[in-house]
Amino acid sequence: MKLLEYEAKEIFATYGIPVPQSGGVITDVRQLPEALKKAGGGPWVLKAQVLAGGRGKAGGVKIAKTPAEAEAVAKAMVGMKMVTHQTHGKALVVGEVLVNKCSDIKREIYIAVAMDRKGERPVVIASAEGGVAIEELAQSKPEAILKVPLDAVRGIEPYQARGLAFKLGIPAKELGSFVRFATALARIFIDLDASLVEVNPLIVTPEDKLVALDGKIVTDDNALFRQKSLAERPDRESTDLELKAKKVGINYIGLDGDIGCMVNGAGLAMATMDTVALAGGMPANFLDVGGGATADQVTAAFKIILADPKVRAVLVNIFGGIMKCDVIAQGVLEAVKKVELKVPLIVRLEGTNVEQGRDLLKKSGLKLTSAVSLWDAAQKAVSAVTPSAQGGRRRSGDGGPRSAEEAKQ
Ligand code: GDP
Ligand code: MG
Repeated sequence: MKLLEYEAKEIFATYGIPVPQSGGVITDVRQLPEALKKAGGGPWVLKAQVLAGGRGKAGGVKIAKTPAEAEAVAKAMVGMKMVTHQTHGKALVVGEVLVNKCSDIKREIYIAVAMDRKGERPVVIASAEGGVAIEELAQSKPEAILKVPLDAVRGIEPYQARGLAFKLGIPAKELGSFVRFATALARIFIDLDASLVEVNPLIVTPEDKLVALDGKIVTDDNALFRQKSLAERPDRESTDLELKAKKVGINYIGLDGDIGCMVNGAGLAMATMDTVALAGGMPANFLDVGGGATADQVTAAFKIILADPKVRAVLVNIFGGIMKCDVIAQGVLEAVKKVELKVPLIVRLEGTNVEQGRDLLKKSGLKLTSAVSLWDAAQKAVSAVTPSAQGGRRRSGDGGPRSAEEAKQ
């Protein structure tokens, strides 16, 4: 789960980390005068609240000297579409804008606590050259990045924090406040089951005060069961369809392609997506109905797949193990009764009760294409979305299986 900057800063403040004076978040320009007042006298900084860094370079961080300037910025920023180097070409819509009192900056420092998987412990990553994209610095000047491994329970030790302060060139009289800051940062990381707590930049003001100017917190979803206050927050990363799927216990992730996939088991779902891609197609989603899905869940899954307007064919690939093929077939039939199926349906069933399953589908008179193997199913699905190109969009020499036999699991 990713938190927005203002949410991260609210948490920072509760741990005693200094943050700029905040006027809160606005979703409408009419809320601006109140926010400016709350943030104190100008100048102010208006910041687009999206789940991506690099906003500064993308026009998502603007300084306004007067209320009139702030209004012009807010008008342009609320509802704006933003593409940063971290959004992978996708535009994010700015729904919320944070209004902060503008800080004067003498120096910008990078500091974060992240999980070091190799070291199996949290690590503080810091650099005296903050503010810039840390990924670029890691490439061009790796020696400028400091790393301090932490104890996963105790967090940062005072001597480690002091060592960092010296290397980062923190003003001597601020040594105590840096130690408190680093201790709080590590504590947040541990308390929240985070995978990343980042402050970029941590600024040194002309008065030599330390202030967290930006904040990013990413937490581990697997720990949400014990992070009640996080679990109650809105899920900003999921699409409407993904939220619907979550509610009924289906693992669904929307993708860019046009072949809707319904599969049982995450491994088989991944294999199906890969095989579709190998056959020259593009999956519209990852969907795992789970091992113990009921006919109702299959119906729900079907509805979710078909609610995606990009879907031009549906590929059902079920291996009946715990899940029985006749239950899946029943679910498919019920779903098709409820949802008007306008796109080709390709079904590959294998495993427990496969005969009953196939029988049910056959007797229903439903127009569908049966497939015998995963490769066969993928090819048929790809052909269904590209009727002119026989055998799908597969490029030659891509290393795919030469025959259905070869690809049989
Ligand atoms: P990011 O680009 O998404 O990481 O957004 P940041 O909050 O880190 O802001 C980007 C840059 O804008 C910072 O590195 C600062 O240089 C500048 N900036 C942000 N807030 C302020 C502020 O209050 N005062 C000044 N002078 N510059 C700011
Ligand atoms: Mg930043």
